[in-house]
Amino acid sequence: MSHTPVETQHNDRLANENGILLQVENIKKYFTVKGEKIFHKHSLVHALDGVSFYVNKGETFGLVGESGSGKTTAGRVILRLIEPTSGDIYFENKHLLSLTRKEMKNVRRQMQMVFQDPYASLNPRMAIGDIIAEPLEIHGVGNRQERKEIVESFLEVVGLQSSFIKRYPHEFSGGQRQRVGIARALVLQPKLIICDEPVSALDISVQSQILNLLKELQEKFSLTYIFIAHGLDVIRYISDRVGVMYLGKIVEIAPTENLFSSPCHPYTESLLSAIPIPNPLKRKKRIILQGDIPSPINPPPGCRFHTRCRYAQKICREVEPEKQVLGQGEVWCHFPLA
Ligand code: SF4
Repeated sequence: MSHTPVETQHNDRLANENGILLQVENIKKYFTVKGEKIFHKHSLVHALDGVSFYVNKGETFGLVGESGSGKTTAGRVILRLIEPTSGDIYFENKHLLSLTRKEMKNVRRQMQMVFQDPYASLNPRMAIGDIIAEPLEIHGVGNRQERKEIVESFLEVVGLQSSFIKRYPHEFSGGQRQRVGIARALVLQPKLIICDEPVSALDISVQSQILNLLKELQEKFSLTYIFIAHGLDVIRYISDRVGVMYLGKIVEIAPTENLFSSPCHPYTESLLSAIPIPNPLKRKKRIILQGDIPSPINPPPGCRFHTRCRYAQKICREVEPEKQVLGQGEVWCHFPLA
């Protein structure tokens, strides 16, 4: 069966002039969890429940949400590190879920990941030169000497000395290790890098250095990023557009400044209300969400946010909101704020 991406009117209108690199259509990912006792039924965790978005070539698309919202699962499903339960993913118009393992290996050269924890994501028994060279070996790039030269050049690209090639991860600081992780992701010269909370394990002072490095590299190598984070300040600094996730769904997508200046979804509004304002003379009313985040095993009917939403009405508890296009953004709410 041949697949072609769904060219929606919305995508035609909002895609930048470079075009769309990645399109995710109605992705679902359910995990089965065993019951606690032998005769208990297995349950389904709705980690992703109908997630759709697209990413333009050369942009940074931020995915933000509380832990458990599904943003990391979304990143892994796009790379097919885990298989989705259903849905479609198109990368450069190729339907990824129809590709054979060999075809997917070729596409994966173009899609790399930078992981959250630079301590856990680097093998402590490998020299950093071997860590960075590993993707080159897997994809059969160059001979040993050529790979060494490529690795040395990428060490310098990420701000490390090429003479570090024989050193081990424990000899580096957290920020330096994350630079090694970035070099490993870059070495195949991919088009898309999924950055999964790449600065959240780092000190604040180091965070900005890594964010600036990512921005420089984006310019230099014409990279496209999906940037996953729970920190709104980080997302605001790095992203061109932002998708807000709640309990396995995207609830709002908008250009960054629009989202931060006039959020349309009540959940986005509550997240933004928690950002401190630097001016002590200005006061902002923080919106405290009622109740706990519901279980993804048994998500609420209707709008998933209704159990915590201060604007919820009867329809919210019964009918799942459809997407509404507002200006340059999209929002899934019966009563959007703007
Ligand atoms: Fe709140 Fe209703 Fe909008 Fe959901 S649909 S966010 S419950 S107003």
